[in-house]
Amino acid sequence: MIRTEHLSKRYGSLTVLKDISVEIADGEVISIIGPSGTGKSTFLRCLNLLEKPDGGSITLNGTALLAPGTNISDARKKIGMVFQGFNLYAHLSVLDNVTIGPRKLLKKSKAEAEQKAEELLKLVGVAEKVNSFPDELSGGQKQRVAIARCLAMEPDLILFDEPTSALDPTMVSEVLAVIRRLAKEGMTMLIVTHEMEFARNVSTRIFYMDEGGIYEEGTPQQIFESPQKEKTRAFIHKIR
Ligand code: ATP
Ligand code: MG
Repeated sequence: MIRTEHLSKRYGSLTVLKDISVEIADGEVISIIGPSGTGKSTFLRCLNLLEKPDGGSITLNGTALLAPGTNISDARKKIGMVFQGFNLYAHLSVLDNVTIGPRKLLKKSKAEAEQKAEELLKLVGVAEKVNSFPDELSGGQKQRVAIARCLAMEPDLILFDEPTSALDPTMVSEVLAVIRRLAKEGMTMLIVTHEMEFARNVSTRIFYMDEGGIYEEGTPQQIFESPQKEKTRAFIHKIR
């Protein structure tokens, strides 16, 4: 379970996040939607401690991540992140991309890390690319390797920031299929996405972000069929 209380983030005089308090239970899949510049990426980056919040707290499975004395690198191992741009290590093979984290950070043996990597590459459908390098892969394959790399760290939670936005339309569905499968298996995930049909089908809840916070949240049915606030309604209407 991850919880934020009164989370805030400023860049200079610009307040991007103000007073975000949410609780996400294990196994929930949250899609985050909203206009550009409303802090969706910043929110994920704060949860993952890639950005330092200016105020408030984040609690992951009972550990207060921002408390003095909390080992941030231990906490971050529990939170996976998948970006729009894949961020694979170009000079490493697919196998090495997936095993480097478990070997270096989880201190797994080479054999154990490789066995797990092969399982995960099979799960995401790129087992045959195990010895390829990132620039030999399609965008969809790269993103599926990035997901396998993330899973190899055995995270409690995965954050996705527009995982399909950089992909050709033909490759979007193969990546969404992998995320859908993780959802079925009970992985806790927060996904910033513009894929509304996907968000509607896969999510337990939708967060609509605007005005520096989670402006409206609810089940997919509530947000897509009967949003309560005018701005939410306008956004949903526009993207239809
Ligand atoms: P998009 O849908 O376009 O990805 P977003 O909702 O993810 O937008 P963020 O990237 O979180 O928005 O940015 C929120 C606001 O914070 C924007 O006004 C942006 O210009 C500003 N911002 C983001 N990162 C920084 C930074 N490192 N320094 C200064 N301002 C920043
Ligand atoms: Mg963004």
